[in-house]
Amino acid sequence: MELPFAESWKIKMVEPIRKSTREEREQWIREAHYNVFQLRSEQVYIDCITDSGTGAMSDRQWAAMMLGDESYAGAKSFFHLKEVINRLTGFEYVIPTHQGRAAENVLFSHLVKEGDIVPGNSHFDTTKGHIESRKATALDCTIDEAKDTQLELPFKGNVDPAKLEKALAEHAEHIPFIIVTITNNTAGGQPVSMQNLREVRAIADRYGKRVVLDSARFAENAYFIKTREEGYADKSIKEIVAEMFSLADGMTMSAKKDGIVNMGGFIATRHEDWYEGAKRFCIPFEGYLTYGGMNGRDMEALAVGLDENTEFDNLDTRIRQVQYLAARLDEFGIPYQRPAGGHAIFVDASKILTNVPKEEFPAQTLTIELYLEAGIRGCEIGYILADRDPVTRENRFGGLDLLRLCVPRRVYTNNHMDVIAVALKNVFDRRNDITRGVRIAWEAELMRHFTVTLERV
Ligand SMILES: *Cc1c(COP(=O)(O)O)cnc(C)c1O
Repeated sequence: MELPFAESWKIKMVEPIRKSTREEREQWIREAHYNVFQLRSEQVYIDCITDSGTGAMSDRQWAAMMLGDESYAGAKSFFHLKEVINRLTGFEYVIPTHQGRAAENVLFSHLVKEGDIVPGNSHFDTTKGHIESRKATALDCTIDEAKDTQLELPFKGNVDPAKLEKALAEHAEHIPFIIVTITNNTAGGQPVSMQNLREVRAIADRYGKRVVLDSARFAENAYFIKTREEGYADKSIKEIVAEMFSLADGMTMSAKKDGIVNMGGFIATRHEDWYEGAKRFCIPFEGYLTYGGMNGRDMEALAVGLDENTEFDNLDTRIRQVQYLAARLDEFGIPYQRPAGGHAIFVDASKILTNVPKEEFPAQTLTIELYLEAGIRGCEIGYILADRDPVTRENRFGGLDLLRLCVPRRVYTNNHMDVIAVALKNVFDRRNDITRGVRIAWEAELMRHFTVTLERV
């Protein structure tokens, strides 16, 4: 008999979590104005609001923290981190930053100017923000198939080469670089194939352009290449990672994802001119070059985290857990964006709460119902997150209305996944009785989902 699958780690330290009663949750969510960002973490039983900075560090990472060199300049910990990044990516120049958006801020301050166009595959919201705040345009060239939630494709995060080619043919002189996000977070944690990275490289070369990889989940992307793309089954994750980065000129990194640290990020590049340019912005925005936004101890933990998370077994445990949750949802017939992504399941609320009018925010309503059901905190990626149209000030109901359930790395067991799945099933079973949603009582002009206050209709 074949042995069943089990985690590639065992547990050395635990953090108690507490269940609550429905009455408590009714009160807490009311006090939070029906916005889960305003709940306290103690009011949450299983927290799936994000996979960013919520992972569990290993014993080796905690041990490495003790070796942190907190020298202002020339810290040993910086050179240790740099050595690991050099070895994994082939990029010679490294600038640490306090998180991913800071890496974008520093690099884009050097590269992006008013009137520029930056093509890519569904730019992450902070990436888009750092482009648009410089009066430039983030041009989405993701394949059209990514928008169909029920279509099963192995690499649904890909760049559409025809769209990219067209962008370059029309606007080459305004394009400072191309950015490819691996995995494609906005499209649901969907991977980008090596073949696609090669196509992007070829197009970029024809126009003499450089390519940046927004690499928050580069290791998960490499896992999907190994398990789904022809010719990679026998390659190690580290070999695949090296090949991915060999097709790019630089990277921005949110280490809070695939670095498995709670805070951190960096820029890495093979080009001295990019390094020299970005350096000028690192010092005023982040700090001196050998720490950027990071403590020495955090650079040590990141160095170990990057090494560990580019090993197959660690990634296999992680991705299979997300797929386990997806399989449970399949069992109950609950619709989500297919196939399951690397870090999260995006539940299709508009297909579940069909009696809740879109003006009453079905995905937010589902988020609230799941919290009330079992104290599980997901996150609306839908009509509230979409903000209003800047010109008409109308709500934007054109996109998808999803409940995102992120799975933190190495934190929960499959028993927790079962609780999530069954709680969602219970809500799903009474979906037709849920006919009213929420209305907005107060909202900020931009990024309203963090602070919005809501009332039940
Ligand atoms: C999280 C993320 C960022 C921003 O990183 P932070 O560490 O949250 O600042 C950028 N790009 C992608 C794809 C991300 O997932």
